[in-house]
Parts: sequence; structure tokens; C-alpha cells
Amino acid sequence: MTKIDSKIPEGPVAEKWTNYKAHQKLVNPANKRRLDIIVVGTGLAGASAAASLGEMGFRVFNFCIQDSPRRAHSIAAQGGINAAKNYQNDGDSVYRLFYDTVKGGDYRAREANVYRLAEVSNNIIDQCVAQGVPFAREYGGLLDNRSFGGAQVSDRTAIAAGSLLRTEPSGKRGYGETVHPL
Ligand SMILES: Cc1cc2nc3c(=O)[nH]c(=O)nc-3n(C[C@H](O)[C@H](O)[C@H](O)COP(=O)(O)OP(=O)(O)OC[C@H]3O[C@@H](n4cnc5c(N)ncnc54)[C@H](O)[C@@H]3O)c2cc1C
Repeated sequence: MTKIDSKIPEGPVAEKWTNYKAHQKLVNPANKRRLDIIVVGTGLAGASAAASLGEMGFRVFNFCIQDSPRRAHSIAAQGGINAAKNYQNDGDSVYRLFYDTVKGGDYRAREANVYRLAEVSNNIIDQCVAQGVPFAREYGGLLDNRSFGGAQVSDRTAIAAGSLLRTEPSGKRGYGETVHPL
């Protein structure tokens, strides 16, 4: 029987990915252009990975199965993103977001990866803002938060009206990233 190895790094859950990143081999910037990277999927996961790798200088080929990269399931997403920013000052934290997300996934998610997601959740919102995602804001201009349920705290969801994927221009998206509908 095939055994799937998800290659989760060793160590306590809160340190797995931080340790892994700290000890990972680096690619010499001069060698990045020589490496071709194939990313399968043009939804939010694949597209953001491909765009980031392209911006880092790798040659990226991004494949999808539909007639257009914008047909990914991600186009249906409503635009709500949870982050442990604790704007409501009601005790939210990386650990609480991690706990709620594992519970919300019926305890089937890979915990190390969920912890990493919770850990970088605040940066993801900041990155989306920098990329032009039109999140709902309060009248004073600060990011608004609403409740999406399933959380120990009141409001931790930033919401972009419409879809996140629609914010990106179609076709060639990242630096050095070419999108290939199969
Ligand atoms: C109505 C709706 C509302 C939602 N709202 C939210 C929300 O507000 N907030 C939130 O966080 N989540 C929301 N979700 C969930 C969220 O949309 C998904 O979890 C997320 O979009 C998944 O992204 P992905 O990149 O992993 O997958 P997908 O967007 O499904 O992309 C998969 C990609 O893989 C490609 N692919 C698949 N098989 C192959 C193959 N064999 N060869 C080549 N390419 C292949 C596809 O072409 C596609 O490009 C919502 C979902 C729905 C349906």
C-alpha cells in the first residue's frame, strides 16, 4: 500500500515550520533564473505560490485544468479571511485561531500547517492590502472585522466584497510567471 509522506517538519507544533525555514538550504540569487518551477493549480493557493516564486526570481510555469486560470474554485470564495490581529481586543491570538481552525476542520487538517497559517495570518492580510484587495473598512479608514462564526472571539474576519481571485489581473500575473491552461 502506498504511504503518503506529508513531510511535516519535526518538533513542537508551534516551532515546526519556523525551525524548518531557519535551517532550509538557500538558493543563490544568481541561480534562481536557472531553476524552472512547475506549480499545479491556479486557485488562491497555486496562483499566490506561483506569483511569489516568480517575484523571487524563479522561472515559474503555472498549470490548471480548466480553459482559463480564473475558473479555479477560488473564484467562488466570498472573500472572508481570518487573522489573529485582535483588533477587537478580546483576547484573540495565534493559538486561538489555530485551535478554532483545527476544530472547524473536524480535526482532519494537518495541525502543523494550520499553526503556520495562523502564525502568518496577520501578514497575509497586510500583503493582500498591499496588493490592492478592497477589504471592507470602517468610516475612519481602519480595516473592518466581522464574525464568520466558529470562533472563540467576536470578530476576526476581514472581508473583501466579491472574490479575492478577481482582484488579480488575468494571464501573466507574477514576475516571471506564465499561466498555462491545459
Ligand atoms: C461559495 C464559496 C464561498 C467560499 N468563501 C470562502 C471565504 O469567504 N473564505 C475562505 O477562506 N474560503 C472560502 N471558500 C473556500 C475557498 O474558496 C477554497 O478553500 C479555496 O479557494 C481553495 O483554493 P485552492 O487554490 O486550494 O483550490 P482551487 O481554487 O480549487 O484551485 C485548484 C486548482 O487546481 C487545478 N487542478 C486541479 N486538478 C488539476 C490537474 N489534475 N492538473 C492541473 N491542474 C489541476 C485547477 O484547475 C485549479 O486551478 C469558499 C468556497 C466556496 C465554494
